[in-house]
Amino acid sequence: MTTTTKAVRTRFAPSPTGFLHLGGARTALFSWAFARHHGGTFVLRIEDTDLERSTPEAVQAILDGMAWLGLDADEGPFYQMRRMDRYREVIQRMLEEGTAYYCYCTPEEVEAMREKARAAGLKPRYDGTWRPEPGKTLPPVPADRKPVVRFRTPQDGVTAWNDMVKGPIAFDNSELDDLIIARPDGTPTYNFCVVVDDWDMGITHVIRGDDHVNNTPRQINILRALGADIPVYGHVPMILGPDGEKLSKRHGAVSVMEYDKAGYLPDAMVNYLARLGWSHGNDELFTREQLVEWFDTRNLSKSAAQWDPKKLNWVNAHYIKQTPDAELAALVAPRIAERGGDPDAANLPAVMALLKDRAETLNELAEGALLFCGPFTPAEPELMEQHVDETARTLLADFAAQARELPEWNANSIDALIKSLLATHGVKMPKLGIPLRLVVTGRKQTPSIGHVLALLGRERVLERLAGY
Ligand code: GLU
Repeated sequence: MTTTTKAVRTRFAPSPTGFLHLGGARTALFSWAFARHHGGTFVLRIEDTDLERSTPEAVQAILDGMAWLGLDADEGPFYQMRRMDRYREVIQRMLEEGTAYYCYCTPEEVEAMREKARAAGLKPRYDGTWRPEPGKTLPPVPADRKPVVRFRTPQDGVTAWNDMVKGPIAFDNSELDDLIIARPDGTPTYNFCVVVDDWDMGITHVIRGDDHVNNTPRQINILRALGADIPVYGHVPMILGPDGEKLSKRHGAVSVMEYDKAGYLPDAMVNYLARLGWSHGNDELFTREQLVEWFDTRNLSKSAAQWDPKKLNWVNAHYIKQTPDAELAALVAPRIAERGGDPDAANLPAVMALLKDRAETLNELAEGALLFCGPFTPAEPELMEQHVDETARTLLADFAAQARELPEWNANSIDALIKSLLATHGVKMPKLGIPLRLVVTGRKQTPSIGHVLALLGRERVLERLAGY
């Protein structure tokens, strides 16, 4: 267990520009598990300052995804757009303290500076025209031009941290530009909002995607300038598709809620996502409680994890088997209705008991349940002709007559009846099994015939036998 002196506070800080994707869900899960492991606080923050790309639907999609996965936040959601006054206040303070300054260069001028640096073989950067230095005279303030605010980045030394995932990382401050923290209209920029939020929200541990590694030295420097505590950072590598390329739509669904639609259980998803880049020995299947108990950032992998749909199906199948029949029935009922079936047409928990050992998704269960709850589609005439010959007809007639008289209607009594008919007529199972399935279910293959007929109910079975 990691020893920490301060109460742990983590956050998930998605930008609501689409659905909750698998990578986001996984960092959310790690932050959540870390907080839960330490008895800490998990904060949800919506980074919605990109007005062109952020939508209320995307916010809702993220909230839905988190709720579905059961990643409950202790605080939030906080919305950055509602914190603008606070960002302005901090910018003002930094201007007063001299850790930030107004810069009146136009974007064209800055581009020209960059071009010049490039031409001289240097790193393209802002040249510090408006950066105040002791004894330096700044240019006259141009009339009618709104300035940006830049952070006065330290010019020497290194900014380093010991990353929870990647180990020690260091950046030369000379590589970092004086970044813009407020635009000419006064609105704060992305890295700045993150800093103020992490500071105000008392975040102690930041777990996020490694696409943010380059932002971290900038954020650390601003936090230092504010006199804030620096969180511990951990940058998790991205998820790759089965072909080794960055996971994307090309590889199938990347939105968490698509997996709900496709019939995956949230617990299975959490289990599977946790194993993408984190491990506890060789354990592949574990409960949420075990995940929380075992979660340790030392076991986060430095290398990228690979999405494996087959393994996800295997995990889901396990969780389906573990789910009590009545609970499965409740989850599958709406999916049966969506497919035109009537969930009340059969004893659904018993149907689940019959099907759940072989299903990988709830949708497969729903498809399977249509045998009992769906509209009856008679078998193709060719199939009937092929399998229902004279002998079969006699067998079916005998079966119907005796089935009517069975004192009990269950899988055992039906199996016993079938067995005795086979013996009396001196035929093998397929001779009766196939015609019986075809006539009663419309399908050539079904789960065990005794169970299927028991669940269909005597009335329906006799009706179909009489009607073919
Ligand atoms: N809003 C950022 C994103 O969605 C995450 C920022 C962070 O975790 O610091 O990529």
